[in-house]
Amino acid sequence: MECLFCKIINKEMTSEIVYEDDKVVVFKDIHPKAPIHFLILPKKHIPSVDHLEIQDKTLMGELILVAQKIAKEQGIAGYKLMINVGRDGGQIIDHLHLHFLAGKPIEMP
Ligand code: 5GP
Ligand code: ZN
Repeated sequence: MECLFCKIINKEMTSEIVYEDDKVVVFKDIHPKAPIHFLILPKKHIPSVDHLEIQDKTLMGELILVAQKIAKEQGIAGYKLMINVGRDGGQIIDHLHLHFLAGKPIEMP
C-alpha cells in the first residue's frame, strides 16, 4: 500500500498545506498536539532517520531551514522540532517528518 504522506504529497489526499517547494512539503497535523503543529517532510520517500543515506544530508538541512523560514514568516519566536524514529520512538507514519510545535511552552516528553 502506498504511503499516506506520499499520497498527500501527490495530492491524492487532501491536507492543509502551509508550504511547498521542489523538495519539501509542510502541512498541518490532523491531530495537533500544540496550538501550532506542522509536519515538515521531504518529497522523497525516506521511511525514517534510520534509513537516511549520506546523500540525504543536505535534504535534512533543508527541512530545518524550512522550519526557520516558516517561523520567520509567521512571526513564531520559539518552537520545538521533534523527530520520532521507529515504533519505539513513537513513529506511526513511515515517511520521515519533523514535527514543528509552537504556540505554548512545550515540555520535553
Ligand atoms: P509520528 O508519530 O509518525 O511521528 O507522527 C505522525 C503524525 O501524523 C501524527 O502526529 C498524526 O496526527 C499525523 N497524521 C496521521 N495521519 C494524518 C493525515 O491523514 N493527515 C495529516 N495532516 N496528519 C496526519
Ligand atoms: Zn512516503
